[in-house]
Amino acid sequence: MDFDMLGLAPRLIAALKEQGITDPTPIQTQAIPHAMNGRDVMGLAQTGSGKTAAFGLPMIDALIKNGVKPNPRTARALVLAPTRELAKQIADNLIAYTAGTHLKTVLVTGGAGIVGQINKMERGVSLLVATPGRLIDLIDRRAVSLAETRFLVLDEADQMLDLGFIHALRRIAALLPKERQTMLFSATMPKQMEELAQAFLTNPVKVQVNPPGQAVAKIVQSVHFVAQRAKTDLLIELLDKHRDELALVFGRTKHGSEKLYKQLEAAGFAAAAIHGNKSQGQRDRAISDLRSGRVRVLVATDVAARGLDIPGIRHVYNYDLPNVPENYVHRIGRTARAGATGNAVAFCAPDEMGELKDIQKAMKATIPVASGAPWEGEIPSKPRGNSGGPRRFGGGAANASGKPSGRPQQNRRPGGPGKGRTRTAA
Ligand code: AMP
Repeated sequence: MDFDMLGLAPRLIAALKEQGITDPTPIQTQAIPHAMNGRDVMGLAQTGSGKTAAFGLPMIDALIKNGVKPNPRTARALVLAPTRELAKQIADNLIAYTAGTHLKTVLVTGGAGIVGQINKMERGVSLLVATPGRLIDLIDRRAVSLAETRFLVLDEADQMLDLGFIHALRRIAALLPKERQTMLFSATMPKQMEELAQAFLTNPVKVQVNPPGQAVAKIVQSVHFVAQRAKTDLLIELLDKHRDELALVFGRTKHGSEKLYKQLEAAGFAAAAIHGNKSQGQRDRAISDLRSGRVRVLVATDVAARGLDIPGIRHVYNYDLPNVPENYVHRIGRTARAGATGNAVAFCAPDEMGELKDIQKAMKATIPVASGAPWEGEIPSKPRGNSGGPRRFGGGAANASGKPSGRPQQNRRPGGPGKGRTRTAA
């Protein structure tokens, strides 16, 4: 099966070829023919599967064939994404796919000046890529009307739900004409998604490339059972083995991620961090530095790293395990992009056994153990009030028995009298 057989316009196929895209990925083979027939599509696929082209190409094809110029302040197609980074990535892809056509793509997200975006909308656009919050701002200012938008895409819909965009989505969808084509893509299918699909889609075709919650096979996963305070040393040791390759490290909190990035930099790694306390400019710079290889290790929180598509990422470290099991799937999906292979390494401290179990349950698989052994029995509580990030060795932190410890608690089972496990959700 190639793109010709899917019925796409020849100039679109030529534009794809220019970018080395010649064979459709499975989600593209499954979704494109239905989308070309005007059907609503509900796609279960992760970032990295080629889903942007799966929804983008049929839309672009229809817009090229239709040839109608958009009216001022309207958009002919709308793609909604949960984060600025993902929205930018989608816009970049659509711009590349529409090269040489009359179609105009505009990106509107928070964190950038609104006036420039209002101006860009003035003459109307073919493809509008937006995060929900900023789009609503623009609608409220009458800078955008969706009355002529006949294509709607909700990308990474599960993440949009996680981030609390449901009301924004409902409001936006109500502004589009009823006669439209809607496509929803999601990496996971939580129960709420069915409701979202029922509200937004009409008799959708369901396409799926990976069973829900299962990671792509090309990712080699492993877990190290390691004490919280020994994690940084272990990370440095592992990173050191492949200094030339790109790595993404996930921390749970902004503070912890910032501190870890500084520790890695001090250890001689070309590192950067992205999280909610960084400006959009800093986040963009960190991502482009990673893309260009100037930065080799990027420390990120879940929200900041959502949808990141950097083909060169070979290693993903779950320095802290995510509280939400689905986020593990999202995180490790940042490696093994577009057919490459990748490593996903998880660090599990004693009080993260619950998270690990939840992840394995969601994935319906056991992650192979790289070092240590699953923590058992009563686990001492973690001191509260700390950022949840890495604790410095010998910094006066309490050991398992609550006494100040001058040396790292190495990878061993906690022996002290515990009060039961608590989870930190700092
Ligand atoms: P996505 O899942 O949309 O984020 O796409 C992941 C990456 O795969 C992007 O960098 C795309 O440019 C690339 N890609 C999309 N479709 C194809 C294809 N058919 N062949 C090769 N690469 C592709």
